[in-house]
Amino acid sequence: MVSRETLPLLRVQGVSKQYGAEHALRSISLEVHEGEIVALLGPSGSGKSTLLRCVAGLEMPGEGDIFLREERITERPPYARGFGMMFQQFALFPHRTVAENIAFGLKMQRVATKDQLRRVEEMLALIGLPGYGQRSIFELSGGEQQRVALARSIAPRPPLLMLDEPLGSLDRTLRERLMDELRSILKSIGMTALYVTHDQQEAFAISDRLLLMNRGEKIQEGSPEQLYRHPVSRFAAEFFGLHNYLPVQTLAPATPPYQWEARTSLGSLCFTTDAPATTLLLVRPEAARLAREEDSNVITGTLHERSFRGSHYRLVTAHEGSLFLEWEVTTPQRDLPNQGDVIQLALRPDAITFLTP
Ligand code: ADP
Repeated sequence: MVSRETLPLLRVQGVSKQYGAEHALRSISLEVHEGEIVALLGPSGSGKSTLLRCVAGLEMPGEGDIFLREERITERPPYARGFGMMFQQFALFPHRTVAENIAFGLKMQRVATKDQLRRVEEMLALIGLPGYGQRSIFELSGGEQQRVALARSIAPRPPLLMLDEPLGSLDRTLRERLMDELRSILKSIGMTALYVTHDQQEAFAISDRLLLMNRGEKIQEGSPEQLYRHPVSRFAAEFFGLHNYLPVQTLAPATPPYQWEARTSLGSLCFTTDAPATTLLLVRPEAARLAREEDSNVITGTLHERSFRGSHYRLVTAHEGSLFLEWEVTTPQRDLPNQGDVIQLALRPDAITFLTP
């Protein structure tokens, strides 16, 4: 018999959904294991919310099934699934206190009052707002409101928490801080979560694993690192902000420690990758630094654009054949080349890979 730990908590099997002629979901399968945070990532209209709504029971799949601990729940109504939800549109009750908001789900479950109070205190401590119970929602900052919304959705200890763009309405600085907080809170209580976002940075920061979607289809699934390092297609690469492609003219085994030597229009590049050999190289923007005498894997180009990005400079180099490449380069300001300069960049072999076919 398969042990309970190896069984997925949630299993989505071949779920399709059509609205008229529109295919919102095309045979999506997904497993989420206990304690895992899985992000559904994709551009607007790719089907993320529809999938989440099918899991929540707010939509019925046209085809396919949904299982909770291997029990089929495809037709089970939302309230009977007992999942937690943190959707942008499920705002807090503005005229109730923080404690009343957090206790809402517990009240619905008819949890005894003293247990409700204890749980609310636990939740306030968890979200870093001890003593805030009697405050009104109006007295809270945007970030604090978001944390209270999180506390409200996890107070009843749902088996699965679903979050749909929960940080969508916040400004960037706050969003970045809350991404990390949200992950650490969810991890600290071992919560299993499905997290919808169109923002790759948010998906990378929050999830253990992510599912990249486009036009209702699953494009790729894996850890954030896997997807970033080995995107399966041009669409996936572009979605992760990767734009540097180099056609391979000839490919040969390289002298160790490298695995491959590829001839390209910019010269020979050596690298090692576990992706299968194809005719297109993907070079990540963090690969480059201003070349020194002793460097290998050096390319030459003209500096087309440069801009300061805080932790690094973004450089765009122009090469023969209208090829433009983008780089994130860390360098002291005094070494920074000027626009129009011919520059040499050394490319780190571990940031070069084949664009998986
Ligand atoms: P996402 O969450 O990735 O932005 P959605 O799941 O909301 O995408 O939508 C996927 C597709 O299904 C879109 O083309 C959208 O217009 C369509 N869609 C979603 N909900 C409905 C609905 N209730 N009626 C008709 N079409 C819908």
